[in-house]
Amino acid sequence: MKNVAKDFWKTKKLEEMTSDEWEALCDNCGLCCLHRVILDDDSIAMTCVVCKNYDLKNKRCADYKNRFEIVPECIKLTLDKVAIYDWLPSTCAYRLIYQNLPLLSWHPLISGTIESMLNIGLNERDFILESDDIEIEDHIID
Ligand code: SF4
Repeated sequence: MKNVAKDFWKTKKLEEMTSDEWEALCDNCGLCCLHRVILDDDSIAMTCVVCKNYDLKNKRCADYKNRFEIVPECIKLTLDKVAIYDWLPSTCAYRLIYQNLPLLSWHPLISGTIESMLNIGLNERDFILESDDIEIEDHIID
């Protein structure tokens, strides 16, 4: 892991974290990479269609460093966005810390290994990769 202070998430607020600590807070669950659609009543629904730049096999962004060039609509998560994006999953590490809640047991910062994420988040069985053939609105799951 990069330059992060020991147990930084227990003592620092989001706004106090270094960029390395901020990045380390993401557990790579990928749930924020699922397409959302806005319904007629303005509520937001989650679909099982994942961003075209997501690697379902390895369960992570296929090119995180260049994601904004590859997917211009990709959103950089910042403190002000964590505060207002109520569509982020309740398990999202940024939401948890923002709400002064502990990280979940499977978070790599708690478990000490990314192996704990293997059964969490997106899998090839239940989620599909965005493509030109897919109508995202037809795949609402929540
Ligand atoms: S939902 Fe939160 S923890 Fe999961 S990948 Fe997105 S930013 Fe990271």
